[in-house]
Parts: sequence; structure tokens; C-alpha cells
Amino acid sequence: MNDRTVMIAGNWKMNLNLDESANLVKAIAEEIQGLDGVDVLVAPPFTSLPAAKQAIGDARILLAAQNMYWEPDGAYTGEISGQMLVEAGCSHVILGHSERRSLFGESSEMVDLKVKAAMLMGLIPIICIGETLEAREAGRTFEVVKEQLEGSLKNFIDEHSMPPSTILAYEPVWAIGTGKTATPEQAQEVHHFIRQWIEERFDKDTADLVRILYGGSVKPDNAKDLMSRQDIDGALVGGASLKADLFVPIIKYQES
Ligand code: PEP
Repeated sequence: MNDRTVMIAGNWKMNLNLDESANLVKAIAEEIQGLDGVDVLVAPPFTSLPAAKQAIGDARILLAAQNMYWEPDGAYTGEISGQMLVEAGCSHVILGHSERRSLFGESSEMVDLKVKAAMLMGLIPIICIGETLEAREAGRTFEVVKEQLEGSLKNFIDEHSMPPSTILAYEPVWAIGTGKTATPEQAQEVHHFIRQWIEERFDKDTADLVRILYGGSVKPDNAKDLMSRQDIDGALVGGASLKADLFVPIIKYQES
């Protein structure tokens, strides 16, 4: 047992229009009324953030963006600042998702700049890391994960301090959107490695408090098993977060 509250987070990626976003939020809100002990978060596309915020009302649903830029303002066509996300109602921001890293050339150095800018704005970062299939098959999983941690959290390392509210998401690239889930044992092994790294780099209290989510084809039928592992503190869900009848059972995994 630990004191970390499980978080179930939905990354909607580039899906759902304004009405669909508001309707999905309302459907989730209705189903989780009175539910305690789980933090629920949704990350709609930028344009849906205000509509989602309004639909959340006073429901216990947290709002995140899927990305941001590190500069506060200026001539950065197409980018969005942390301040803009705060104004849109966000408390969290997903950074360094594998799709950002692989499709848009985001390096760990860039993720680190974003993490720093997010913290300055009071946004809680959900920092994604994870190895490719090639790296796993070459036996380089821990090496890659460590490299991404060292690079993406450099500003925390320089400060010798990592805010315990920081959220990490271990998302093996080979399990994202593929239907292939890491086994609970495979996921736990990496989550444990990450927690040990936090303890070595910072301290045990921080390592005990930081939440590490698992992401990669989480579905209602595998959520409970994954969540039962000591170092898995929740899930970052892609595909299955787009439908209330899939996402809600993941949130209520304890009932299955
Ligand atoms: C994700 O994109 O963060 C993700 C885990 O996607 P999926 O659940 O669809 O594998």
C-alpha cells in the first residue's frame, strides 16, 4: 500500500469536435458522481479546452492540454503558451508524448524546457517516456528510459529537487495504439526502475510521492491487473478514453 492517489487520464489526441468533447465530459461526469479515491483527467485538443472546462462545471475532472511551447509569448506561429492553457482552464499539461517525439522531432532537451515553463505557470506536467520496440528487443529499455529521464528532467536535476506533484507516464512506444499491452510484470519492472532512479537522483520521499502512470493500450479488461502493481499509479489512456463506455470502466477498475 502507498499514499499515492490513482490517476486515470484520457489523452484524446486530435479527436472530437466541440460538441463531442462537451458531451463526453458530461457523460464521464455523470458516471463518476460520488466516486472517491481516483483522480480523473481529460486532455482534449486545444480548441475544445474551454468547452470541456465549461462542461466539467463542478465535477471532479481535471483538465490538461496535450502540449505547449516553452516561451511565454512572441512570434512563434502555431504555438500555445502555458499562460494560454491556464486561461483555458488547464491544471495539467502532457509533455513529451511519444507522438510528439517521433512525429514532430521533440527531443528530451525540448521537453525539459517545456517542463520548466509549465512549472513556472503552475501547470503540473505529465511527462511521457518510453522505449521503442527496437530498443526493447536490443535489451536497451532501461538505458533509453534513463536517458529520457535525465534529459527531460534536467532542470529538476540541476535544482536538486523534483516537485512531488510531477507526474510521469511510462508509455512503451510499441504498446501505444497497437493493442499490445505491456504485461503487468513488464510495466511494473520499468515503473520500479523509474522510482529507484527518482530516489537516487532526488530522495526517497519524492520517489514515494511521484505518480507514475502506465500508458499503452489500456482497456477495461486489463486496467485492474495493471493497477494492482506496487509502482503503477494509474493510466494514461488514448483510444479507450474517447468513449465513455470504455473510459468509465477503466476509471472504475476496482469494481471489475
Ligand atoms: C497514448 O497515446 O498515450 C496511449 C496510451 O494510447 P493508447 O491507449 O491508444 O495505446
